[in-house]
Amino acid sequence: MIINGERVDSVSGETYITYNPATGEPVAEVAKATIEDAERAVQAARQSFDYGKWRHFPVNKRARILNKIAAIMRSRFNELVELEVLDSGKSISAAQGQVMQAIEDFEFYASAIVGHRGNINNVPSGFFNYVLKEPVGVCAQIIPWNYPLMMAAWKIAPAIAAGCSVVVKPASLTPLTAIVLTEICHEAGVPAGVVNIVPGPGSLIGDYLVEHPKVDKVAFTGSTPIGKDIMAKASKTLKRVTLELGGKSPNIVFEDADIDAAVAGSLFGIFYNTGQSCEARSRLYLHENIYDDFMEKFVEKTKQLKLGNPMDPSTHVGAIISRNQLEVIDSYVKSAIEEGATVLVGGHEVKVQGFEGGYWYAPTIITNVTPKMKVVQEEIFGPVVVVQKFKEEKEVIEAANDTIYGLGSAIWTKDHARATRVATQIQAGIVMVNCPFSAFPGTPFGGYKQSGFGRELCIETLDLYTEDKSVLAYYGTRPINPFGV
Ligand code: NAD
Ligand code: MN
Repeated sequence: MIINGERVDSVSGETYITYNPATGEPVAEVAKATIEDAERAVQAARQSFDYGKWRHFPVNKRARILNKIAAIMRSRFNELVELEVLDSGKSISAAQGQVMQAIEDFEFYASAIVGHRGNINNVPSGFFNYVLKEPVGVCAQIIPWNYPLMMAAWKIAPAIAAGCSVVVKPASLTPLTAIVLTEICHEAGVPAGVVNIVPGPGSLIGDYLVEHPKVDKVAFTGSTPIGKDIMAKASKTLKRVTLELGGKSPNIVFEDADIDAAVAGSLFGIFYNTGQSCEARSRLYLHENIYDDFMEKFVEKTKQLKLGNPMDPSTHVGAIISRNQLEVIDSYVKSAIEEGATVLVGGHEVKVQGFEGGYWYAPTIITNVTPKMKVVQEEIFGPVVVVQKFKEEKEVIEAANDTIYGLGSAIWTKDHARATRVATQIQAGIVMVNCPFSAFPGTPFGGYKQSGFGRELCIETLDLYTEDKSVLAYYGTRPINPFGV
């Protein structure tokens, strides 16, 4: 772990092993943080924020250091990619895109912070009011295992750009790239104590950070149940909270869509990152007139997806993060069968040659589902898509919105009027129109409903790492004496 700019062991001396999900083999031995370590990290962050110089640096100096972080990441691109693949089991093509985006996040916030400013308000003559954007303070940043480096970048970049100090709690399963990123931050010139990282169990370390009175804000990405727990616990000290939680995103293909584009985009929409994406388009809605045509192509292409050596650039689908997660996915598929659905493709574990010790699951398509089935309502977080047919636009919008979640969504149509009409009615933070991608640096990412609140990846994120301070001054010639005494 890294506390106050130094690579340190746990106070307890405890460590744990992280495994490569593609092989089941150990990758690294990592310090396992205890509460005492989390306390040390909070104190280091507090010290650097309250008495350090980072937040007082001219903004262009902070920006320069963020750009330097990006430059070092770029120069170590292949190493970061390889480490991400080893630690998470994802395919190298997915890891490359995510490491590239992590780099671009730092570049984006290096620029964005320079243009982030307060304002001056109109007040009566003689008065003067200006609003300062001040860093919110010490931020606990808790991240999941599905995009280990990218999530670390989404959290660290805007926070330190704004002048905050952070304590990062990576997912226990995938701490490695976030630790390297923390080292890179220091190499680039971030002062000691501004970025600290404490790998360890979420229930212990995460909890401690969330309840800590010296932590000002919690930024969390993870599952909806843990997000609710965090919000409740953070309320005791009234911390600022942003939550990026689960999803069950609809993917709607209208009869006038470009079917080949929709098939390709829908395939990527669910099977990218082995379906372990919060914005995975896991509910496919097909207009009845194109259902057969679409499904023929979609099934065919799903069967062509290549599982295998994650380091092979031609691999499409990587491993599942853990045995445990694989069993969760499989039990969802079994529940669908019990409830009367049809598993059209996949629906089982796969043995991959040369990777027999890893956790692999076949890309899975489920049909004959009804709206209340578990596989239609709950986030599976694996390579499983459920397919439903629709007739009317109104009907499909209702179906799309019939979930507790509201993160992503995608619509496929050549009719721009329809695209705009439907986009306004979908209850989700993101609507993709004829587009397989859900986010670029600069575009808001976050949820409606129980997918959380707050937006990341965009300029507005900086507002979530700053407080508005209103300075109201009086420069009039006559003293004001409201009491008149
Ligand atoms: P998780 O909620 O189990 O864990 C996320 C993080 O929280 C981990 O670092 C974990 O150690 C920590 N944690 C666990 N219990 C905690 C507690 N009681 N207090 C504080 N921290 C605790 O989720 P996961 O299994 O790692 O990740 C998958 C989930 O993340 C999915 O539900 C997915 O939808 C969601 N996700 C959302 C987004 C988004 O942007 N909306 C992005 C990626 C993942
Ligand atoms: Mn791992």
